[in-house]
Amino acid sequence: MEGLRTRGHDAALRAVAGMTRGAAPHAVLLVGPEGVGKTTLAMDLAAGLLCAAEDREARPCGACRGCRLVRSGGHPDLHLLGPDGPGRQVVIGGSGSRARGVRDLIADLALLPVEGGARVAIVGSAHRMNEDAQAALLKTLEEPPAGVTIVLCADAEEPLLPTIRSRCARLRLGPVPIREVEAILATAGIDDPALAARTARIAAGRPGRALAWAADPDALRTRDALARILLDLTEHNPAARLVAVRSAVAEAAAAVPVAADPPHPTRPPGRGQTPRPKAGRSPAPPEPSPTEPAESDDRETEAAGSTRTPASERRRAAEVVVAIWTDVARDVLLATEGIVGSLRDPRLLEETERTAGALDPVAVGRFIDRLGRAGVLLAGNVGPELVMDDLALAWPHPGIVPA
Ligand SMILES: [Zn+2]
Repeated sequence: MEGLRTRGHDAALRAVAGMTRGAAPHAVLLVGPEGVGKTTLAMDLAAGLLCAAEDREARPCGACRGCRLVRSGGHPDLHLLGPDGPGRQVVIGGSGSRARGVRDLIADLALLPVEGGARVAIVGSAHRMNEDAQAALLKTLEEPPAGVTIVLCADAEEPLLPTIRSRCARLRLGPVPIREVEAILATAGIDDPALAARTARIAAGRPGRALAWAADPDALRTRDALARILLDLTEHNPAARLVAVRSAVAEAAAAVPVAADPPHPTRPPGRGQTPRPKAGRSPAPPEPSPTEPAESDDRETEAAGSTRTPASERRRAAEVVVAIWTDVARDVLLATEGIVGSLRDPRLLEETERTAGALDPVAVGRFIDRLGRAGVLLAGNVGPELVMDDLALAWPHPGIVPA
């Protein structure tokens, strides 16, 4: 088991060890929030299934040819698939399609294994599989080729057909404890303990997200600035709130590459947990939600008329602001109760306590519910400006206790 890279998911690792030792399952569904370590665990399972160590208990050994090829991303019997094309969806693909999709994966799996052993397919961001792709994959799940294990990694399982879910062994990955995330960051070469401690808290148990924040100081600074704007907002009148939130969304666009879903890795993770390339300010393409066809973006941009930023990008930026706002509101609520030891961002302690002192905890609690609904509305294709304006006006005012 020397070859394992996953940390902080002991129960899931025990289940994976069972799959490596016994009969390999045909299909596995790994479910958990983005950045929690699904891809790393999927690669560990792949290494375990493709490892050549005599002692099954020792798989993945981390040293044999199979393990090394999995690690380097060059194993001929490991097939990776992820979102492709402008809509950032996992598509059906196949002949005539420029995007690689499920049909291409099925064609790969129809061939004989190159190394003569097991074959593994990993579908990243499987919650972004469109209906055609899911229907195509279902046939393979119903009659899987011999020796093939298909691993689906999904942030949420609801977008997947019940018939797909029912054919998979399901493993849920929950948040990783903060200390464990700090250790993962240290292993990945983040040698600044203060930075590691801070990003581990902000990432809320998602090592992949913590690594992304730690690798991008600019995005971290943008996050700080946005959190301060949101804390100050309580003192503003409605008109000023609307202006401030719109500009916050514009600023969040700069943090989108790091804060949004990472692209599916075309190469396996190296050290640590689901690492990603250092996020810059420009490389990430806009990623609409799975329910949002790419064409609707253009229509919405046209209708809005006021800006050239694609609707999908504005939606992503709004989602970033909602995520940061949720952390800010959560910390304010904790501060109203005097529980400052669990703050997600202790660096803003002073501002958070000042805001908390002026607000009614019940109103803050209601607002946190509203942030949750905002996330659902954004995913459901409601205009981001509408959602953000509503939040700007609903963020509690000092001294006003709701009826
Ligand atoms: Zn091995």
